[in-house]
Amino acid sequence: MARDLRRIKLVLLDLDGTVYLGHRLLPGAREFFRRLAHAGIAHALLTNNSSIGPDDYLRKLRTLGLKADRRAVITSAEAAVLMLRHHAVRPDRLFVLGTGKLVRYVQRCGFGNSSERADAVLVGFDKELTYEKLTRACHLIRRGATLYATHPDVNCPMPEGAIPDAGSLLALIRASTGVRPRDVAGKPHRWIVKVAQSHFGLKAGQMMVIGDRLDTDVRLANRFGLASVLISKAEKGSRKARPRRYQPDLTVSNLAELIRTPFFRRLTGDKKGRQSSPP
Ligand SMILES: [Mg+2]
Repeated sequence: MARDLRRIKLVLLDLDGTVYLGHRLLPGAREFFRRLAHAGIAHALLTNNSSIGPDDYLRKLRTLGLKADRRAVITSAEAAVLMLRHHAVRPDRLFVLGTGKLVRYVQRCGFGNSSERADAVLVGFDKELTYEKLTRACHLIRRGATLYATHPDVNCPMPEGAIPDAGSLLALIRASTGVRPRDVAGKPHRWIVKVAQSHFGLKAGQMMVIGDRLDTDVRLANRFGLASVLISKAEKGSRKARPRRYQPDLTVSNLAELIRTPFFRRLTGDKKGRQSSPP
């Protein structure tokens, strides 16, 4: 059944692998944002990476020549704060297993970082992990602290190969304590979508998702019943249609290809746009 794409007012976009790869802008990204803005559709840039903050992303996007405003950049750290508040985690009873940037972010949102009396532990993508911090988290969990995570990704893709992400830390904690997180904030979980909804004041049905991963981006869209586009050379190139757990509405190699599709023309109300644009 064809979706009514004209209802869509906000596109939720993944960053790495969708808009850029490492420090390289991917084909069509700039033109995609230009056409989206021309059609009056807003965008939000969603990232599960909780090791750095929204300002770091804004700086990176600017370096790549893309303009983005602060409310458009949403990280799993912001989603985690919403999640912790929902679960009524006491601000003075939280221990954060994460980078200094994540710790400072949750502190700015009113939470402390207590290693002694915590009854909740938040696990992020801790690139500054020490054995001492890991031991502290496991002790607290064994004493009954509730475990939360900013996002579930096991690996983070890097130009030199994947590196262990928050999901790997959760696996280690589970091996030691037997405990799984009570809730997770980032994609494909609901909190990051709720942050986007609150930033833009929209209903779920007015949003769609574009990303390069089936198990986070497309899964998120499927969970909320949103339209989705998968950016994937491999999936597009596979001749045999394999049964998949998560189904995008469309698969393209990159944003340059997306803007040439009938799907994108339906989304942006092409006829009007085409007629009004100069020859
Ligand atoms: Mg990605």
